[in-house]
Amino acid sequence: MDYDVIIIGAGPGGIFSAYELMKKAPNLKVAVLETGFPLEERHCPIDGDKVKSCIKCKTCAIMNGFGGAGAFSDGKYNITNDFGGTLHEYIGRNKALELMNYVDGINMSHGGEKTKMFSTAGSGFKKLCMQNKLKLLDASVRHLGTDINYIVLGKLYEEMKDHIDFKFRSPVEEVEPTDGGFRITYDGGKTAECKKCIISVGRSGSKWMEGVCEKLGIPTRSNRVDLGVRVELPAPIFSHLTDELYESKIVYRTAKFEDSVRTFCMNPNGIVVNENTNGIVTVNGHSFEDPSKKTDNTNFALLVAKHFSEPFKDSNGYGESIARLSNMLGGGVIVQRFGDLERGRRSNQKRINEGMVQPTLAATPGDLSLVLPKRILDGIIEMIYALDRIAPGTANPDTLLYGVEVKFYNMEVSLSERLECNHPGLFIIGDGSGVTHSLSHASASGVYVADIIAAET
Ligand SMILES: Cc1cc2nc3c(=O)[nH]c(=O)nc-3n(C[C@H](O)[C@H](O)[C@H](O)COP(=O)(O)OP(=O)(O)OC[C@H]3O[C@@H](n4cnc5c(N)ncnc54)[C@H](O)[C@@H]3O)c2cc1C
Repeated sequence: MDYDVIIIGAGPGGIFSAYELMKKAPNLKVAVLETGFPLEERHCPIDGDKVKSCIKCKTCAIMNGFGGAGAFSDGKYNITNDFGGTLHEYIGRNKALELMNYVDGINMSHGGEKTKMFSTAGSGFKKLCMQNKLKLLDASVRHLGTDINYIVLGKLYEEMKDHIDFKFRSPVEEVEPTDGGFRITYDGGKTAECKKCIISVGRSGSKWMEGVCEKLGIPTRSNRVDLGVRVELPAPIFSHLTDELYESKIVYRTAKFEDSVRTFCMNPNGIVVNENTNGIVTVNGHSFEDPSKKTDNTNFALLVAKHFSEPFKDSNGYGESIARLSNMLGGGVIVQRFGDLERGRRSNQKRINEGMVQPTLAATPGDLSLVLPKRILDGIIEMIYALDRIAPGTANPDTLLYGVEVKFYNMEVSLSERLECNHPGLFIIGDGSGVTHSLSHASASGVYVADIIAAET
């Protein structure tokens, strides 16, 4: 055996597995194989000047590399079982919260100690939401911000680099069970053998993960995709909420179709960004802790959850087709004023320039009603008016909507309560398992399996 444990993917799931193994089982020989680059070499070519939009790099600097999709994220660690994944269904609610708090402690001791923890506990907004047919979900959220998140990742790497064998630019091609372990083929045919393997390939590794499951006969299921837009408006409109809660997860049930629409990934004084998943450009957002990098706008996603029933199985394919449509029409992400959407006309650069919200992402002015299905668009419009009751100004005609935002849910891999698949010793964690969809849950899942492995050695 070359290694006791090989971890595939250096996102939050893989990093916290490696960190915990280093602490709890320092005698184990551990490697991390990662497609992308080390943290300091991760640079997205979009500079807003020469390169204005996504040029579809072979390895996306935003999604791949040390820190995974989380490296340039807003660094919002939501400590809750209410959203961000279903880890609690496998390991129990208390254990899940305990591990999320444990991860928070590690972040605090690696540069995050001056950041703030926000909480919905005792907030008057719960009542205000209820009075307006909205539901505020319970959570505590640690906002590291993109800049502090980067510092924390740098410090974690510094502490691990002499104990863990990190191999970057090393895409894993195959995982094969052997007598007593696994053979991992990576980087164009190199091989390494290990006793145990942790797969943590995130959303960008979803296609690869599907192939592994098919080849190794690991059962999976998939039936959900979340589709919607990113809303950008002047920060004061939401400041009463964001000052107290930072991020509010608010759910609305539409009158017309009884679908759930929710706010997601709120970024006070933040920026809207492109996201490239398997060559499809969608929209996302983040914000900095550094006051000099704050903008005048707040952005958040409004997502409609779409669950499909048999015989249709390809929910991600459905989401991809809609995202492709927006890419086809806009060459990438489309931006539209809410007023233009309501009046049934496409936005143009002149009307956007004249509006009171200056876009933080250079997207193509267009018409989202040509992209999003009516049911989803109707739900988003209803939600904007519902939010307008608790944050007047949300439904202003100049509010910007960027589309499309898609949350692809990886197929859910069939796992035991140990997060182990039907091949003993093969653990599948983080967003790539379909169990988690967030920094805190992915990181906690990493600590959880590392503790299991450490206890058995
Ligand atoms: C712009 C943006 C902002 C976000 N903001 C937040 C936020 O504020 N709060 C929050 O909770 N979540 C946020 N998220 C989501 C969050 O980043 C993810 O939930 C989290 O990173 C998942 O961690 P993970 O380790 O499971 O996967 P990832 O972070 O996706 O890491 C997986 C890693 O595996 C590597 N990989 C994939 N396939 C292979 C392979 N075959 N071989 C080797 N390596 C491979 C990838 O390169 C990647 O580095 C954001 C995401 C984005 C893109």
